[in-house]
Amino acid sequence: MKKLWAFLLVVFISVGAWYCFQQSSQKLKLTHYVTREEPIRFLVVHSFGVPVPEFVQRLDELRLSTHYVIDREGQVFQLVPDDKVAWHAGISYWRHIPNLNAKSIGIELQNDTLGQSPFPEKQIDAFVKLAKKIIHKYSIPAENVVSHSDIAPKRKVDVGKEFPWKKVAEQGIGLWADEKVTEPAEQKNVSKLLAQIGYNVTDVNSAAFAFMRRYVPELVPMDPQLNHLEENLPNWTEALDLSNPLFLLRLNQVVAVYPDRDK
Ligand SMILES: [Zn+2]
Repeated sequence: MKKLWAFLLVVFISVGAWYCFQQSSQKLKLTHYVTREEPIRFLVVHSFGVPVPEFVQRLDELRLSTHYVIDREGQVFQLVPDDKVAWHAGISYWRHIPNLNAKSIGIELQNDTLGQSPFPEKQIDAFVKLAKKIIHKYSIPAENVVSHSDIAPKRKVDVGKEFPWKKVAEQGIGLWADEKVTEPAEQKNVSKLLAQIGYNVTDVNSAAFAFMRRYVPELVPMDPQLNHLEENLPNWTEALDLSNPLFLLRLNQVVAVYPDRDK
């Protein structure tokens, strides 16, 4: 009898939690999407710097959209169903594949400074739970879990240098680096190696800066002009030092974990 009560209690709590989640996620929806015709192969991680309702309103006004939003408290909102193509990535490229919207799910994380200040643990926990579910459900390869800046390095700075890529990679989300590798890359090979990871290297400094935001964030200065962060991007990338030893070491460490896309 006791077991029956315990079972009923678990059922009651689960239904309650599901109902609450449905209620909160139903408050926010976006209608800018089309039916998906290609399989989901990518997970794109973004950040945004305003309160969630304002962000959703802005997307709506710009006729943009995204599948999921996670606020600082770790509350998850689904704005577009997975089986629809949302407009979150824009002109993009990764590992020989252009325009990733058609093949991706977008997750947006609230962060006041576009990912330049730490993401609360609650928010990352919610992200890990959601990302694991999506990766498993659609069999997304680890090398296809990317930051918006990875796939649009000339235009975008999110998810941002404070996103804990190493920590989430330890949980099976995306790839980090083989820190046992001790040999730095040669500077003459930077472009080739960035391309091998997956970057569009038509502007090698932009690709290198996106790489640094993700893999060597300690080399990326805080940009205090938050409103102009993306407009400032060319200034940062022009000043980039591609001979930095830590950058060259990490580049070799990261290349070591990415599968060769031509095989
Ligand atoms: Zn973005």
